[in-house]
Amino acid sequence: MICSVCGKDQAAGVFASRIAPVSCAYCQSCLDKGAEPYGVLVINIAHLRSLRPDYQLSPKLEAVKQATLVIAGKSEEMLMEDVRVRLKEF
Ligand SMILES: [Zn+2]
Repeated sequence: MICSVCGKDQAAGVFASRIAPVSCAYCQSCLDKGAEPYGVLVINIAHLRSLRPDYQLSPKLEAVKQATLVIAGKSEEMLMEDVRVRLKEF
């Protein structure tokens, strides 16, 4: 089973996501960094913004976001664009 965050390493197991009601496969390295699968992060932020358009990320979610962006190789701008696209579906 491959880690669903980095898509490279062997997963240490399936764990509940820290930011969404889903379970994903995580390798030890991604667990240690507190990163989440990029798609889960996008949906989570889009969901929060759909409830409150001016929603600011909590310090915890901000930390998850930073760790996830590094591993996913995405920029802040790419993330916000993906969130915008996703928001139209709500
Ligand atoms: Zn990983």
